[in-house]
Amino acid sequence: MYVALDDTDSVNGNCTTFLATEIISELCEEMDLIGYPRLVRLNPAVPWKTRGNGSLVMKFGKGKGKKTYTGNIAGRDIFCYEKAASYEPDEKVIINRIIPLIKENSEPDANPGLVVSRRKPSQSLYWKGVRTILDRNIAENEIRRIGAFVYEMGNGRGIIGAVCGMAWRPGDSTLELLTYRPRDRWGTERIFEPLSIMKADASLPSTFNNWEERTQKIAMVPATPCPIMYGLRGDSGADLINGKNIIKTEPLDRWVIFLTNQGTDDHIIYNSKERVPNQSYYVEGKVTGSRRIAGGHVFTDILTKHGSVTVGAYEPSKEFRYLFDNLCNGDIIGAMGEMRAEPRTLNAEKVRVISVADRYAKVSNPLCTGCGRTMESVGRDKGYRCRKCHTFSAEPKRIGSMRWVREGWYEPPAAARRHLSKPLKRMGLEQPVEFVNKRM
Ligand code: ATP
Repeated sequence: MYVALDDTDSVNGNCTTFLATEIISELCEEMDLIGYPRLVRLNPAVPWKTRGNGSLVMKFGKGKGKKTYTGNIAGRDIFCYEKAASYEPDEKVIINRIIPLIKENSEPDANPGLVVSRRKPSQSLYWKGVRTILDRNIAENEIRRIGAFVYEMGNGRGIIGAVCGMAWRPGDSTLELLTYRPRDRWGTERIFEPLSIMKADASLPSTFNNWEERTQKIAMVPATPCPIMYGLRGDSGADLINGKNIIKTEPLDRWVIFLTNQGTDDHIIYNSKERVPNQSYYVEGKVTGSRRIAGGHVFTDILTKHGSVTVGAYEPSKEFRYLFDNLCNGDIIGAMGEMRAEPRTLNAEKVRVISVADRYAKVSNPLCTGCGRTMESVGRDKGYRCRKCHTFSAEPKRIGSMRWVREGWYEPPAAARRHLSKPLKRMGLEQPVEFVNKRM
């Protein structure tokens, strides 16, 4: 039986992943967790999201096959199973036990949605949910088609995210080990040893987006008053558990490993002729101009097969912007990111420099090939002539300028990355040049 929920929190508090741990704790007394619980990120450009547009999905049943250590909640170890036996738990029992937990753990201004189903929704719903803005009717039609049970609070918009998350079939996937603070510590300053995070990052190469080596900054501890202590992201469950044992913090209340679509680039639309606001695209083109605007943002225009696009590198992306400062007209780049409505820019979250144009600077007027003297300018953009021999040259004497940019992929610092963006580390790549305050 699949259980999916979304939109129980708001900027004022609560956390849907914490509610998922409460549900796991409640139901695992009688049934088993099949597969890891899932944290499915949906379209990051949805205007009404609270933070990371995450939907939570779990499957409960009678487990069989390999048993995997998945978490510890209130002192009890939690395991998940590779497969489910044919037995299905009673839908009504699940619903009656979950609804009080949702009521207890939802913010008054949230719009919670719970979907419980024996059948999985069509995979196409996941792709719509992660790449487009979905009409509620489409979600409701699919819920009807698979005969799922629905429970809504507020305007119930959470059912859209819930059914889209349930529709995910992990192709590329990653894991995140989330740790939670005891309730009486929520909203207070988090106590932890930063150097232990650096140590975990250095000793566990399968982890990513937790520590920013370039600037020595932590990217895994939230600044919000939510129940989470930290989220350790990576590709191996065993490494995440090792990491948890390395990272030193104040006492934890619980931890759970979630299977996620984070770090996969699933939200990116390729080869599209049109660019609709609130969706994310990959576009390639030739640089035609660049400018810095107030607030420290950089806008770079590129000419693509389907017209001109302004790529924006915004201030929070920090030294990533220095790449744009160093681009020149004629460079060919590929950029991926969210298309904004206003200003109409593609908000860059990763850039590929495909080719770097040669750049020349004038050093002097040309020399006459007849007498060797310096030629004189005929006028602005009209070339050069030798007074004595009357020879002509259209171009001055130039030398090639040094270009600091190199071909390859570039990304913002870990703390400024989108959950869904695939980090270069997961692509097996390294940024070819590190820009720090316009210096290498
Ligand atoms: P958090 O990450 O803190 O759990 P959130 O960022 O997931 O919060 P929500 O409060 O869950 O934000 O709000 C997202 C809302 O948008 C939900 O109601 C969800 O159903 C809806 N939603 C998600 N994806 C789409 C989509 N592609 N189209 C339309 N609505 C969507």
